[in-house]
This record gives sequence, C-alpha cells and structure tokens, in this order.
Amino acid sequence: MELNKKLEILADAAKYDASCASSGAQRSDSRSGKGVGSTGGAGICHSYAPDGRCISLLKLLLTNSCIYDCHYCINRRSSNVRRAFFTADEVVKLTLDFYKRNYIEGLFLSSGIIRNADYTMEQVIAVAKTLRETHDFRGYIHLKTIPEASPELIEEAARYADRISINMELPTQKSLDLLAPEKNMARTKIAMGRIRQRLDDARAQKKDGNRKLRHATGQSTQVIVGADESTDADFLAGSDELYNSYKLKRVYYSAFSPIPEPSSILPLKAPPLIREHRLYQADWLMRFYGFKTQEILSPEQPFLDLELDPKLAWALRNRHDFPVNLQTAPKETLLRVPGLGVRNVARIIQIRRHTKIRLADLSRLRVSLSKVMPFLITADHNPSTLLLDSDRLRAKFAPKPQQLELFT
Ligand code: SF4
Repeated sequence: MELNKKLEILADAAKYDASCASSGAQRSDSRSGKGVGSTGGAGICHSYAPDGRCISLLKLLLTNSCIYDCHYCINRRSSNVRRAFFTADEVVKLTLDFYKRNYIEGLFLSSGIIRNADYTMEQVIAVAKTLRETHDFRGYIHLKTIPEASPELIEEAARYADRISINMELPTQKSLDLLAPEKNMARTKIAMGRIRQRLDDARAQKKDGNRKLRHATGQSTQVIVGADESTDADFLAGSDELYNSYKLKRVYYSAFSPIPEPSSILPLKAPPLIREHRLYQADWLMRFYGFKTQEILSPEQPFLDLELDPKLAWALRNRHDFPVNLQTAPKETLLRVPGLGVRNVARIIQIRRHTKIRLADLSRLRVSLSKVMPFLITADHNPSTLLLDSDRLRAKFAPKPQQLELFT
C-alpha cells in the first residue's frame, strides 16, 4: 500500500483520540477545482505543550488493526474497516518530512494492539527512539502506552516522550466489562502508578542537577462520555482519583461519536456536546477552584445541569453562602463566586490592598457584571437579598426556552 494511502487511513483512524481534538473537525479540500487549500488527509492536529503553547502535531496510529474488541472503537477486531500498518521507519520519515517543511512541531503516536501489548509497545518505542537517537529530533512527542505492556517498556517510552498517556476509556470496571471486556481498570491504575513513580524520580534527578536527563514530564488519559449509562458523578469521581493519586496532568472527556457498523449495545445517538463541555468545566473547578466532587454532584444528583455552568449551578444551590464581600472575603471564597476566574481573583486581591473595590473595577477586569452582581458586595453595590432568594434567579441565567418546530 502506498504511503499516502496509509497516511489517509491511519491519520483518520487517530481522530477519535480526544487529546488533539481539532483533527476530528470537518474536512474540506479544493480537489473539485473550487477554492484553494485542503484540510484533508494529513492528520495534523493542535495540542498544548507543557508551557501552554499551542503546537501542531502529526497525529497517527501505527496501525488500525487490533486484537481487542472494544465495542465503541472503529478499529476493534470485529469491525469491517480497511486496515493499514506503518513500519517504524515510515513514521520516522513522515515525521521528519513534515517537521522539515514546518508543518508540525511534534508527533502524537498511538496504535491498535497487534500480536500482543509488548510487541506493539516495542514498535511505538522504535519510532520515538529512532527520532531522538538517530535524528536528534527535539520536537514534541506524545506516546499512547498500553497498560498490559511490561513496565520496562512503558518506562522506556517515557524516556523518549514528552508526554505519555494510557486511555482509561470508561470510569468503572462495570462499564469496561460491558464495552471493553479485555480491559482491566486495576491493571491500568497499576501502570499509571508506575508512571507516576518514574515521573517523580525523573523530576527529583533533574532537581539534583541532572539537567540533561530527557524524560516525559506528565501523563494524561481519555474517557468516553455517553457510550453507556455512566453518570457525570462516575466520571468526576474517577478523575478526582486520577488527579490526586496518580498526578495526571489532564483527563480528556470525549463525547462518544457513533461509528459505522456499530455494536448493538451502543446508543444510536451521540450525547449532547454540551455534556462534554460541562464535564470539562466541572473538572476545572476541581483542579483550580478547590471544589470537591461531592459538592458538584451527589448520588441524588449524578448528572451536571446542562443549562448552567457547574459553578453557577452550585451557587444557586448554596445561596446562603452569598453575597460575598469582595473587600474582605478570603481567596477560596472569591473563587466560588460565579463569573470570577482565577486570574480575576488574583487581581482583585491585589487591587483591594490599595482601594475599595467598585463595580467599575470589575468592568475594567472584563468581569461580566450581570453574572456576578447577584452574588457579591462592593463599595457601591449590595444586591437585594430578595433577588438572591428569588425563583427567577435561575431563569435569569438559563438559556431561553426555544419554540419547537412542528415539522422538522
Ligand atoms: S484496544 Fe484500543 S484500538 Fe483496540 S479496540 Fe480497544 S480502543 Fe480500539
């Protein structure tokens, strides 16, 4: 098979991995003779480097063949898709060609499992090792690893990559038993625990002066939302454990997208995209705003409110904690005010050392006054408690109901 054809198949197969979500976007090209340019086929996506820069990556699968049969995956053993396989040298060549032409700054490489986990990992590592050792490639490398692979291989992958990840896929073993029966949550967590240990060791060595040590600086994972009955509380509890016990840098929430020839146990429709968005917002609240999972959701309320962002929904459930005085409230309390972000809170704390905070100060910080005013007190504003207690407060923020069309 020609290299270009393989690239088309294996870049397309990689788009289901959410950590570089832009490659799943609508494709268009000018082959019909109309317009200029093309977004098709090349497999280039965007991701964020550890320092926050947006970088372009060549995003590929080494192969879309797989001995596993995960129901939600287009590459599963029983799927009737065209298969392709890159050799390690072909991926190295493609990466270098794209890099030299300035199309990409790095490589995101994943793979279906062929023969067994160790064999597959060896092929993935061969790509990264050749790039680093033979070609002195200094670009970004993100490698997907396989939890069933031997620890030595996962450690070796971490030596050549900037970021490594293992997909958790679903939040509970019960869900895995249903949709990915060959996968085991305990094994995945053991592998993540080992990676965490290696990352900690590498960090300590660098601190001790071994500046030349090359090693991945973080691990991440992906979960699929809406492929089964797992609740948002299940996802957030899982993420909470991954951040706290395994020090993951990111959990990516990927809304399940129906695949051709789907298994009969999958839902027919994708979940609303807003669910994925709300999970990211809730995840952000846990990581940067000091919220506990059980404050955001509970067994009685296991799904996020799709109409309101989770911080606003929490504030409306906890109106007794408001209004908050901007002049005197501690940082942790300010972070809970709907409409105030981490950066704004830091600025407010700076400003209030010198002056009394007024609404005009908030406007200058580009804070949405209509969102924050019911929840805070400033030198020139004290919201009516009547408004805070009002049933209409939710209606003020929720999207307006839309007229349904009869004949669509
Ligand atoms: S192991 Fe990965 S590639 Fe294979 S079927 Fe499962 S999700 Fe797909």
